[in-house]
Amino acid sequence: MRKIFTFLAAILFATNIFLSPIASAATLTFEQINPQVEGYVASLPTAKKAYKSSQRPILIQGAMTAEVGNLINALKNPVVYWHMHYLFVAGTYKNYPVVVSRTGVGMENAAASTVLAIEKFNPIAVINQGTAGGYLPNLHVNDIVIGDSSINYSAYKEEYSPAGEYDITKQTLRGISAYDKDNKESTEFRRFSDFKPDERLLQAAKTTAALNKNWNVTPGTIGSADSWNNAIDHIAFLRDNYGVACEEMETNAVAQMCHTADIPFIGIRIISDNAVTGEDFELASALPCQDFVLLVTEKLIRDIKAKRF
Ligand code: SAH
Repeated sequence: MRKIFTFLAAILFATNIFLSPIASAATLTFEQINPQVEGYVASLPTAKKAYKSSQRPILIQGAMTAEVGNLINALKNPVVYWHMHYLFVAGTYKNYPVVVSRTGVGMENAAASTVLAIEKFNPIAVINQGTAGGYLPNLHVNDIVIGDSSINYSAYKEEYSPAGEYDITKQTLRGISAYDKDNKESTEFRRFSDFKPDERLLQAAKTTAALNKNWNVTPGTIGSADSWNNAIDHIAFLRDNYGVACEEMETNAVAQMCHTADIPFIGIRIISDNAVTGEDFELASALPCQDFVLLVTEKLIRDIKAKRF
């Protein structure tokens, strides 16, 4: 019985019968979307052998099931790979190999699944995408932030303060450590207070934004940590001192791994909530984000084929 349901769900998902009306709906719950996507994944063939491709694939990541469903659905000839319980679906998009990765929520999962993907799939570029909380008053649900920089805002050092005098602003961002290929003196990792995306990926995202007015897109700094902030003073501090435009839980961890591995990276985030404007988390925002990222991917594939990348 369960198998039949899974099969039906897979067909409906693959033919987009479910997703289209939901995609345009204002709200969406985890309960509505997760069984469809998981059912579709369960219906796909599982790889018997290690991944092999003559062209290096593009890796597109999302933390949660709802953040990768549309991407998986867009793949032709999808094949499922499980590595340490992290899900990867490999296929082609616009006749070019693409691997979609569900990283799991949070910095450690993002980093671990990125390293696994680098080892198993040898990606030519990594795009991390998904939902984020806006810090700027003019960022609303469904607006997109292209990460022109990212930080781990939990990587700080506090000034000493005695009991009863805690002030969160008495801190400096130290950053996290990664390999520095330019250091000829030492192989030891050094601290990076921020990471910049690959310039060509940034241009591909900006060009896509300029050509598609369906999305309100701005470049900005993505702030990452295993936290969900809601205190306006804390948010204002991170925004005003570190220039954070939106917060989430994965981008900078992936940027860190890609920096050490020397693989081109970019983070692209859609606003799902904004404590400053009082907008609550809206999961449906995960869908238009994937649609935008697929357009960026298409542009990237054109660049790769024209040897501009
Ligand atoms: N059901 C999940 C919900 C996680 S929401 C759970 O309980 O674990 C956290 C995810 O949404 C993260 O992947 C993060 O990247 C993203 N996100 C969206 N808005 C966020 C915000 N305001 N702060 C932090 N992460 C946010």
